[in-house]
Amino acid sequence: MKVKRASGRAWNELRKMKAKVGVVPNADGSAIFEFGDTVAIAAVYGPRKLHPQHMQDPATGILRVNYDLLSFSVADRKRPGPSRRSTEISKVTEWALAPAIDLEAFPNTVVDVQIYIIQADAGTRTAGINAASMALAHAGIPMRDLITSVAVGKIDEQIIVDVDKVEEDYEGGEGATDFPIAKLARSDEYTLLQLDGKIPPERFKEALDAADKACQEIYEFQKKALKEVGE
Ligand code: UDP
Repeated sequence: MKVKRASGRAWNELRKMKAKVGVVPNADGSAIFEFGDTVAIAAVYGPRKLHPQHMQDPATGILRVNYDLLSFSVADRKRPGPSRRSTEISKVTEWALAPAIDLEAFPNTVVDVQIYIIQADAGTRTAGINAASMALAHAGIPMRDLITSVAVGKIDEQIIVDVDKVEEDYEGGEGATDFPIAKLARSDEYTLLQLDGKIPPERFKEALDAADKACQEIYEFQKKALKEVGE
């Protein structure tokens, strides 16, 4: 590896993960998921009747995601309330999670997923997706699979796994690339692919393979935490 990571991690090394379900007792399902200093909490409510009534779909229940980065989660206090960024992340998270869940048995309902980032050090959308997927499973929502998510990236020539804030902000050489992905854990079905920066087409497969391997590790971690419910 040519580039030395500030954290001392190997190019394919994830930050230390932590995960736990059942962290919000009032919710139907909940989970906390951490990648190092990035901490996401997700709470699921539903399925419950969707209001206003004209938004109901008699063919299926719907998924509604709200993502927010709390003011105290970053050193430069983030202005409270919705932003273009939080609206975008809520929407892409909804799209990332929806293919895993089956709400046809719950017509006219909504499943609300609230994601709060209580500490941010990059990778908040991916940590939020991992937490939300676990919270949906914990809530007993019918799912085809868990969704597993990570941001891979590139510093100069080097592909790196689980990009942190120092790496995301790197401006030397060719600069940094942030490439968040999400997938159905046991298949090659991707539900989120975003790209901030550049990955040459011939390196795309390499980046995706690195993400796949990381997702496998994350999936095992999610499953372990789900099995620990009630222990
Ligand atoms: N960030 C921040 N203030 C903001 C928004 C973001 O300090 O208002 C930081 C935070 O650490 C976040 C990182 O910038 O994790 C990268 O944000 P990005 O929009 O790339 O999404 P993320 O990597 O968190 O999914």
